[in-house]
Amino acid sequence: MSLYRKYRPQTFNEIIGQEHIVQTLRGAIESDQIGHAYVFAGMRGTGKTSIARIFAKAINCQDKKNGEPCGACRICKEMTQGSFLDLIEIDAASNRGIDDIRDLREKIKFSPNVGKYKIYIIDEVHMLTSDAFNALLKTLEEPPAHAIFILATTEIHKIPATILSRCQRFDFHKIESEKMFNSIKEITKKENIKIDEADLKKIISLSEGSLRDALSSLDQLNSFSGGAISSETLEDILGYSKEEQLLEILKLIQSENIGKIISFTDGLINDGKDMESFLKNLIIFLRKLLILKIDNKIQSDFSNSEKAAEIANGFSLEQIVRLADVLNSVVKNSKFSFLPQLVFELEMIKFISFSGKIDFPTKKENPNIAGKIVNEIKNVLKTNSKQESEERIEKSKEEEIKETGGKDGWNLFLEKMKNEKMILYMALQGCEYENFNETVRVNIYNSFYFDRLNEKQNLAFINNLFEEFFGKEKRIIIQKGEKEKIKTDTISDALKVFGGELVE
Ligand SMILES: [Zn+2]
Repeated sequence: MSLYRKYRPQTFNEIIGQEHIVQTLRGAIESDQIGHAYVFAGMRGTGKTSIARIFAKAINCQDKKNGEPCGACRICKEMTQGSFLDLIEIDAASNRGIDDIRDLREKIKFSPNVGKYKIYIIDEVHMLTSDAFNALLKTLEEPPAHAIFILATTEIHKIPATILSRCQRFDFHKIESEKMFNSIKEITKKENIKIDEADLKKIISLSEGSLRDALSSLDQLNSFSGGAISSETLEDILGYSKEEQLLEILKLIQSENIGKIISFTDGLINDGKDMESFLKNLIIFLRKLLILKIDNKIQSDFSNSEKAAEIANGFSLEQIVRLADVLNSVVKNSKFSFLPQLVFELEMIKFISFSGKIDFPTKKENPNIAGKIVNEIKNVLKTNSKQESEERIEKSKEEEIKETGGKDGWNLFLEKMKNEKMILYMALQGCEYENFNETVRVNIYNSFYFDRLNEKQNLAFINNLFEEFFGKEKRIIIQKGEKEKIKTDTISDALKVFGGELVE
């Protein structure tokens, strides 16, 4: 049996973290004020299903004390064994359709078999189809007195507001590293698993607040190494990258030294390291740097906090977010690439060259790689210009659009820019423009992009292309959107990139 299942908490007392939720639920049980529908939201492995099951057990238990199930009565025993008939668990990821919910609606009216309540736990509820949601809503509007719903989800934003408004909502937090450490440490003692505290901390930091992930990593390492987990095994199996390595690559990116970045990735590959794991570790590490940058009072477990602070200070907030964004797409794209390393290198060139300076490897430094990169860039350019000629809109149509300008004109210009300078295209797309007369004003909300676009050579390039494209009388002015917008954009970008809450 997996460690996660073996040590699954059976009472509220055994739950790690989520005190705010446990307290409220126990209070509701003690005062017998139980709602009909709850939504449990939060990332995977934070205890949503465990708490839902304990809650289901406690409200049906024949001998509950202080809101806790007794664990000894018939109902508690059946629940623990998983044979209790009035607890119905539905996995919406595999039963997402209308038929399953119809079936639920049919059966829900029948009284519970043994307990006082019939409990429906719908896991990953956001996966339901909209028809299924509508059917569920009808049940939630007039639930039978004996029915209780617990809807669990990792993606609360996908649940219709009509459903949410009928539920009591609980937001599950990531489990704090220290609590997770103490709890897993206990488990390693009981299971007689030998692992260094520092290594255990690494496992926990990779799990990003998910107890389930941390325990399955421990499981995996344990079964591989037969009871004594070494740092080497950890690095091999989990692909955990040493902090020094992560700091080193970030330092190279900061110093815009492409030659050394390429030598560095070569070194990784030669050491047999997996590029994908390395990049994922780098993304997690950037998140830690981001938090350090936002609030340096928040405790982080860097092994070299001085160096980490130095690197964090060398980046702007936006640069960290953008870099993490770029790395995320590298992870996605490199799955389809025969040479993931190259995808990373090319993206780093783009990232660095955007800040205006580009440091190509000199022949002296590494002649082969320099040639490889130059050829690759030539190929990319060739493909782009080929696409341009293939996709060229009929001459007359294009002239017409140029004449009228407006949205079509702008989009056509962006297409042109895409072929000419991908990086500027990326900065310009998604921005707003006003006034398509002699002067076109472009509102840029992202201040990083704003600064880059206003750099002399970039501005000149845009204006030249614009004049060439639309005729001499037009000019483009890059102006800054309002300050408020920049802030929310950056933070929502950060949330998107890192997928979740930044700081609790
Ligand atoms: Zn009981």
